Amino acid sequence: MMSRNMAEAQIPKRIDAVKLVKVNQRFNAAIDQNNLTRLNEAVVRCLEPVTCEIEFLQAADKQRLMRGSCHTSVVMICQRCLGEVTYPISSEFEIGLVFNDEQASQLPRNLEPVELDENGQLDLWSVVEDEVLLALPMFPMHAENECQADVATVLEPEAETTNSSDERPNPFAALAKLKQ
Ligand SMILES: [Zn+2]
Repeated sequence: MMSRNMAEAQIPKRIDAVKLVKVNQRFNAAIDQNNLTRLNEAVVRCLEPVTCEIEFLQAADKQRLMRGSCHTSVVMICQRCLGEVTYPISSEFEIGLVFNDEQASQLPRNLEPVELDENGQLDLWSVVEDEVLLALPMFPMHAENECQADVATVLEPEAETTNSSDERPNPFAALAKLKQ
């Protein structure tokens, strides 16, 4: 676990990945969640900085790697009751740093490819943001005992409720309203 004051150090945005691999750089630091636009668009709000532990290293086969973990917490919309639900989000990743698609295709299957630019540079915030986005639940929901919706009603098969479904809110309409 990371101590609080370590988490207050900021992860650099633009990095020279080739150089960081060479020196086996490690980061225990955070990214201010307000800098992550795509994440903020995907959730109601992000509650805390994305804290990260990241290491750059070279594998035995010379492959450049970036591995680590990140975590934060977000508020999303419960798909059952359309109320807000808070989720802790954490992700572990092992990334193969490559220069082109051919190198990407040669990576072992357990490695996720991320492409460096021609100078070996990388937008580290964007890579971490991708990992957080991938870790978001696809169908966010409260635990049953915390949810405002009548679980039995909502889970009833659609075919049997065609005539009596008028009173139920359309979740997509309600979501659209929330996004306005
Ligand atoms: Zn709910």
